[in-house]
Amino acid sequence: MINEKMYGLGDEPSAIRELFAYGLARKAEIGAENVFDFSIGNPSVPAPALVGDTMRELLETDPVPLHAYSPAAGLPEAREAVAASIAERYGVRATAAHVYLTAGAAAALAASIAAVTEPGDEVVVIAPYFPEYRTWIEAAGCTIVEVPAAVPAFQPDIEALAAAIGPRTSAVIINTPNNPVGAVYTRESLEALGAMLRAKEAELGRPLYLISDEPYREIAYGAEVPWVPSIYDRTIVCYSYSKALSLPGERIGWVYVSDSAEDGDAVTVAVAGAGRALGYVCAPVLLQRVAARCVNEPSDVAAYAENRALLTEGLSALGYEYVEPDGAFYLWVRALEEDAQAFSDRAKEFELLIVPSDSFGVGGWVRLSYCIARDTIERAMPAFAALKASYAG
Ligand code: PLP
Repeated sequence: MINEKMYGLGDEPSAIRELFAYGLARKAEIGAENVFDFSIGNPSVPAPALVGDTMRELLETDPVPLHAYSPAAGLPEAREAVAASIAERYGVRATAAHVYLTAGAAAALAASIAAVTEPGDEVVVIAPYFPEYRTWIEAAGCTIVEVPAAVPAFQPDIEALAAAIGPRTSAVIINTPNNPVGAVYTRESLEALGAMLRAKEAELGRPLYLISDEPYREIAYGAEVPWVPSIYDRTIVCYSYSKALSLPGERIGWVYVSDSAEDGDAVTVAVAGAGRALGYVCAPVLLQRVAARCVNEPSDVAAYAENRALLTEGLSALGYEYVEPDGAFYLWVRALEEDAQAFSDRAKEFELLIVPSDSFGVGGWVRLSYCIARDTIERAMPAFAALKASYAG
């Protein structure tokens, strides 16, 4: 017998990947220059030179130790480098023992969710949210509880979150800078969230973990991205180099369990156990070595900042409504009809590939990834104008 749930996951590509695949086929059909693909979050800037230089240097060394298994939690030098970088950047005590190297943020999240939940528990997410949260939460035998973000700024709605937290809640997942909205949670929001979680822990008499999904930490346009463990002790940070160093296909990231968490040592052991149960023997070892060298390498945000300006100015001039993004590389645009899927389908007629909001847990919006060539954004503007015009009258 085939497992029905797993068959369903394999058979149903995500809306984003489906649109991306459609884009590839359409580009082959009518030429890549005629398709305006805003579907997927593949970084469009190259990895920093230090990444390639480090790889080339490493590949000249003895291949036997180079490609050998690392300890499950990661190479000591990689864990030390991550911990030292955290300590230096955020002015906190961070120990290597609390760092666990992973195959990107996806593995970090899957392991963290499994580590702090029991089947039957609830995990709270803020809608709109990254669709894979549901997959990982349900894979851990838990129920996803969706709480809408507070409009218009899409910050966490503290009262609504408090109302959603009950005796079965184990964790809350936040993502800042946010995919799909581009919001960066303010210090004020995070402090209110932390205070609410502490009050709820006291009320319910059980620990509440804050899982902070941070693949876009380095991609912010001037806004402060506060260090969450300094605000709430029971924080688990899930980080990735996919976007920060433009390495999404290489699969490297980490979990950091706050050293201030009362049960942090045990949580770190449970994260390692969950990684083991999920079949992650160790994170890709060549990339661990690269990460160890590149922890403080700055991300190239300038190209995304330029694209952001170009896209927002262009869509403003055409009268589109959107959320001003403070981080990540997505624009959250109001669909021109209530049915976001129908709007995305209509956009396809103009060769515009934009992701309907339904897969992020809300209706009525679309997500545009602007980690694409600048020229594509420029050339897409007449198509956006024609799409808008098709709704007039
Ligand atoms: N979380 C969010 C919000 C994302 O947007 C992504 C990837 O796009 C991930 C997690 C997974 O990142 P990774 O490629 O590092 O596994």
